[in-house]
Amino acid sequence: MPRYIVIGGGAIGLNAAYQLARMQSGKVTLLEKGLVGDGSSSRAGGIITGLLWSETGVLARMISLRLYQELSTDLEQYGYRFQDVGCLNLFDPASWKEREELLPMYDRLGFGYEILDDAQMRGRWPDLTPEADLVGLHDNLGGYSEPHEFVPALARRCRDLGVEIRENAQVEDLQIDNGRVVGVQTAMGLLEADAVICTVHAWTVTFMARCGTRLPIKSFVHQRYVSSELQERVAFPVINANPYGGYIRPARLGTTDFRILAGGETEEREEQRVDDLAFRMSELRAPESVRSSLATNLTPLVPKLATTRWETEQVGLISYSLDSEPILGKLPELPGLVVGAAFHSGGLAYSPVAGLLLAELAAGESTSVEISSFSPDRFSAEDTDAYLASTWVQGEALRRRH
Ligand SMILES: Cc1cc2nc3c(=O)[nH]c(=O)nc-3n(C[C@H](O)[C@H](O)[C@H](O)COP(=O)(O)OP(=O)(O)OC[C@H]3O[C@@H](n4cnc5c(N)ncnc54)[C@H](O)[C@@H]3O)c2cc1C
Repeated sequence: MPRYIVIGGGAIGLNAAYQLARMQSGKVTLLEKGLVGDGSSSRAGGIITGLLWSETGVLARMISLRLYQELSTDLEQYGYRFQDVGCLNLFDPASWKEREELLPMYDRLGFGYEILDDAQMRGRWPDLTPEADLVGLHDNLGGYSEPHEFVPALARRCRDLGVEIRENAQVEDLQIDNGRVVGVQTAMGLLEADAVICTVHAWTVTFMARCGTRLPIKSFVHQRYVSSELQERVAFPVINANPYGGYIRPARLGTTDFRILAGGETEEREEQRVDDLAFRMSELRAPESVRSSLATNLTPLVPKLATTRWETEQVGLISYSLDSEPILGKLPELPGLVVGAAFHSGGLAYSPVAGLLLAELAAGESTSVEISSFSPDRFSAEDTDAYLASTWVQGEALRRRH
């Protein structure tokens, strides 16, 4: 019976373990250095859309959206439901020109969308007051996943499917024998495996450097907020509101407690280097000014925001590869290892399909989507070194939202 080790207890690692367990093809152990959800996954906005910018991305997200519907059924008894409220992507005239060029690709791939002007948006969602020159690209299949429901529900389901989840179990290194990854080193000793899946997000560069592999990934601090309770439920979809400098969506703290969630970048903030495996995201802080600027920027779009204040804050990291596409695949120099990282601000959205693809690769199966454009070996050593040696502020990274 093959043995699989998944490193990292975030949404990507949990989904990989879940898919392996469902394949019933072997013994699955997930190792998490802290507690499950300690990384970005439990801090995310949870926004999901399929309207991405590359063919591989769109095809992958079509699978993710289908899997989210299936997870909604499979995890219902654990308190999770995918909130299929749709996702509205807003564009000003300049950014719309660029996005409009992608419409033939969406048509060819059969991904449905609607184009709405400001009057249509106001008519459909009375809580919204978008400016007159904005274009709305609506993804009917999109929505959101509450991370505080999704991550624990998935972990419980994994355990019930037979996955062994070990918390406070930091992986120190890969065990390599005759050029092949045959297990991992932990404080408890060597754990052997036929295939290892590495899903350690912002820790990937430091972790992989231990066995001499360099991957071009940068991480940036990102933050999101949940409002005080509203008098009544708001009626609008998830909104990627770039012209307003952020994103906003309805939020739930239970079945009757309705709030608003919003988040955004800090363009001028320097990248966050994670040089130590022991780093924890709870060490991160957001500038106080983000709270007020988000509220000021987004209230013209959602006037009901003015009746609330931000009650909770979550600060974490988002990671970008050199070309801003995910890194997912096998490393030719390290057979036995599969890596999934750099999902920009869309790792929650990618997580079901990323888990499926990682599980397929680890089990030696062909992948559900052709993923050569996500391949870890698509970067030259020179480009990787230059990317890692440079220091960027977040505004220099391509804004790839959700
Ligand atoms: C504020 C914020 C808002 C976001 N909003 C969205 C959104 O709306 N939609 C969306 O799709 N995405 C969003 N994202 C991005 C998303 O959260 C990430 O892309 C996603 O969580 C990455 O999942 P992961 O499993 O790779 O990483 P993580 O959840 O960070 O998990 C990695 C895990 O690996 C563990 N680990 C690290 N090193 C080791 C080791 N050596 N041994 C064992 N364990 C180790 C860590 O403790 C961690 O728990 C947001 C991110 C932030 C910060």
